[in-house]
Amino acid sequence: MANPKAFMEVKRREVEYRPVEERVKDFNEVENFLFHSPGAVEEQAERCMDCGIPFCHGAGCPLSNVIPEFNELVSRKHYEEALRLLLSTNEFPEFTGRVCPAPCEAACTAGLNDDPVTIREIELAVAEEAFKRGWMSLGVPVERTGRKVAVVGAGPAGLALTAKLNRLGHSVTVFERSNAPGGLLRYGIPDFKLDKGIVRRRVALMRDEGVVFETGVAIGEDMSLNLLRRKFDAVCLCGGSSTPRDLPIPGRDLRGIHFAMDFLSQQNKRVSGEPFDGDEISARGKRVVVIGGGDTGSDCVGTSIRQGAVSVTQIEIMPKPPEGRSEATPWPEWPYQLRTSSSHKEGCERLWNIASKSFVGKNGEVAGIEAVKVEWSYNAKGLPGKFVELPDSGFKLEADLVLLAMGFVGPADKDAYAVAGLEFSERGNIAADCAGRTNLDNVFAAGDIVTGPSLVVRAMANAAQLAATVDGFLKELA
Ligand SMILES: Cc1cc2nc3c(=O)[nH]c(=O)nc-3n(C[C@H](O)[C@H](O)[C@H](O)COP(=O)(O)OP(=O)(O)OC[C@H]3O[C@@H](n4cnc5c(N)ncnc54)[C@H](O)[C@@H]3O)c2cc1C
Ligand code: SF4
Repeated sequence: MANPKAFMEVKRREVEYRPVEERVKDFNEVENFLFHSPGAVEEQAERCMDCGIPFCHGAGCPLSNVIPEFNELVSRKHYEEALRLLLSTNEFPEFTGRVCPAPCEAACTAGLNDDPVTIREIELAVAEEAFKRGWMSLGVPVERTGRKVAVVGAGPAGLALTAKLNRLGHSVTVFERSNAPGGLLRYGIPDFKLDKGIVRRRVALMRDEGVVFETGVAIGEDMSLNLLRRKFDAVCLCGGSSTPRDLPIPGRDLRGIHFAMDFLSQQNKRVSGEPFDGDEISARGKRVVVIGGGDTGSDCVGTSIRQGAVSVTQIEIMPKPPEGRSEATPWPEWPYQLRTSSSHKEGCERLWNIASKSFVGKNGEVAGIEAVKVEWSYNAKGLPGKFVELPDSGFKLEADLVLLAMGFVGPADKDAYAVAGLEFSERGNIAADCAGRTNLDNVFAAGDIVTGPSLVVRAMANAAQLAATVDGFLKELA
């Protein structure tokens, strides 16, 4: 490192956000990124101790980004070399640099008795410097192999797989049901976390690299999986996990109860000026209750606040996690601990240990939720195990809009895929081995469609593995 004592002398610069009163008035990105402050990125990169056994790279980052080495290069301002190193493992550092929860930082050795290195923001700085200077060059292959691959789904898994296979010389056509590529990067994650111009910029680059995008085409509806198998040498299913978990309690059919993704995708389309089907869902002037305490729920909170909700309450059946790392998840594991997002800080009440029992309504519209409190017992590891409902703990939460953000239970196109003979796992995802092979000869799968709902970085890591499998398969074809 340029200054080997920096980890003792320089403090971690925490993530900075635009002031709440300013940011809730728009859908622009909330983070004041480190790369906007001259010298800050290099100074933070110097904090990396190059500690010898890089847990950040091994136990932390699912992509195995070569973190101490790119920190070293950044600390010496060698951005172009840092970019090359970063791109050797990570196709889209401009996405992970914005939305990754950074398990690498949870595994950083400096975090054992001090604050971890700001790895995610350093990664983003390298990516943005590269776009600014025109280094994010085209991965156009020198020679085409003549092999044709169909990728179904243009989320982070499909895009990362496509980028790799295209660079290896295979001709890739991406089929995407939506009007534009990006998957949840485009239609799920709100603009205030990831500006859609960033997604469009990457897709434009991939088009220039020779990738063909067929948008507005749903495989299983507009074209069968078996037809695709005949037309292409390999078919890769990267359609994500988009069937929302429902809450089938009394009153579920009242108006004003919606799945989180219906609400979030409408807002993303509104920001991009895209039309959307169905009735408008708006939080303006409403008391909003979000059921589900995870990231999707948090995105509903931030979106509701920006739309002008009167109040926002997020309820969760799980207990409140500890403020700091739980002993159940020691370093370098991903910590079980309370996570407070930028949206939560914008004005939201959070309640834990709550089980919804029924929706109550007036004139067919939802007016509230009847709920009870629950108590959890903990397993031997110290993590929540089972719960019981507390007697006489019933209460009512008033609500004019209820958003269901309780996760996803598998791909939307199960029936169409089952007709083609594709097998599914017990959890309802596509059954694939660790190399991404399904039970059908030239059909492969990666991302949330195999793992269930996960993270952008994990979907990309899964796709990177599949790229090697598919490349090997294509090379062996006569
Ligand atoms: C609201 C929300 C916020 C999130 N926030 C974060 C975050 O901040 N950080 C993070 O790391 N992760 C986040 N996640 C999780 C992350 O977005 C997913 O894990 C990731 O996008 C999965 O990538 P994927 O490519 O497997 O699937 P997806 O992103 O779901 O993409 C699948 C694509 O396939 C298309 N498709 C499906 N079936 C077909 C078909 N039959 N024919 C044609 N096209 C098809 C879909 O239209 C979609 O575009 C969030 C998830 C949600 C829902
Ligand atoms: S992709 Fe995520 S886990 Fe990997 S280095 Fe970047 S921020 Fe860390």
